[in-house]
Amino acid sequence: MNYETVIAHHVQGLNRSGIRDFFALVQQMPNAISLGIGEPDFVTPWNIREAAIYSLEKGKTSYTDNLGLYAFRREVARYVERKFGLSYDGQTECLIGIGVSETMDTAIRALVNPGDKVLYHEPCYVSYSPSVQLAGGIPIAIPTHAKDNFALRRADLDAKWEPGCKLLILNFPTNPTGGVVEREQLEEIAAFAIEKDLIVLSDEIYAELTYDGEHVSIASFPGMRERTVFLHGVSKAFAMTGFRIGYACAPHPIIEAMMKVHQYAIMSVPIFIQEAGIEALRNSDDAVASMRESYQRRRDLLVRRFREMGLKCHLPQATFYTFPDVTPTGLDGKTFATRLLQQGEVAVVPGTAFGTDGHDFVRASFSTQYAKIEKACDRMQRFVESL
Ligand code: PLP
Repeated sequence: MNYETVIAHHVQGLNRSGIRDFFALVQQMPNAISLGIGEPDFVTPWNIREAAIYSLEKGKTSYTDNLGLYAFRREVARYVERKFGLSYDGQTECLIGIGVSETMDTAIRALVNPGDKVLYHEPCYVSYSPSVQLAGGIPIAIPTHAKDNFALRRADLDAKWEPGCKLLILNFPTNPTGGVVEREQLEEIAAFAIEKDLIVLSDEIYAELTYDGEHVSIASFPGMRERTVFLHGVSKAFAMTGFRIGYACAPHPIIEAMMKVHQYAIMSVPIFIQEAGIEALRNSDDAVASMRESYQRRRDLLVRRFREMGLKCHLPQATFYTFPDVTPTGLDGKTFATRLLQQGEVAVVPGTAFGTDGHDFVRASFSTQYAKIEKACDRMQRFVESL
């Protein structure tokens, strides 16, 4: 069998995720300390785990509505109102998906026609461009730059816009840079979206992990609710990556279209997982706040140590990622990460995994225990001094 002819052309055209390739290397080094992965090292708070267990004990093992359990959608609507001041009808304007990953992919597939162009800012989370390609769309990256703290400015948007652009994907706070967006900038982006008649897919998964300032959603700006798909989930702030819960809130016609895609691919999210999701959103503010405080201490440690090593590292205002410029060592990001892993036994991700503008950078996550970060920093310092 010639499998090259079997695999669909649009899949052959996809690159493997740069993160995946790098982690194949890390797996071979059992003593390496990983600052590579974007996953909380906390176990999901007990009240949430107990809710899943209790749901199974009660025999909750059925399908649910394709949109998700109504009780959970109602809880999502309450939560996004309470936290972000956004008003959605849980009955008709919310969809529960398998993480933000599937929910974003579903939104893209529901909205993109073959040949439609989709703008997104880079460096960025790895799934956006492949999802657009799989939907037959044309991804257009908008580079952002370290000298501006990776801010997305109106001029950057104007420079990349072209006829045929239909969607704009935003991710604030941003993976991998830890950047947030100022209100004035968000206003400019909103004005651009309205002027160019774009639908905005706004991935706000790191909203609760904001350390400095307050998170503001673009959906809350005048004229934006009708053209925004608000995407959010519990993986990061609630330490629930393995539960696989994400949700979209948007005007009913968009949710209805997403439901048509989701119903054939997924059918519904497991019912006991959705019941745990209700508990998460309803009763876990304190647990989230205490994890956030812990991340903030780890952030301050990691940034201080990077700066002491002579790397250029801005203070991430949110997420659990730092994105230092490693060029003061004389190495680019990829060489730095590869040699650091081999010689220093610390894993960080080359910035190029998140777009070509990440050439000079690595992403180091502070979702790892404080003591382990300290140990990783000692190793990194020795490595940098050896160069
Ligand atoms: N969006 C961003 C910006 C992410 O960084 C991640 C995971 O790293 C995801 C979405 C995926 O989240 P989920 O676990 O909800 O699928």
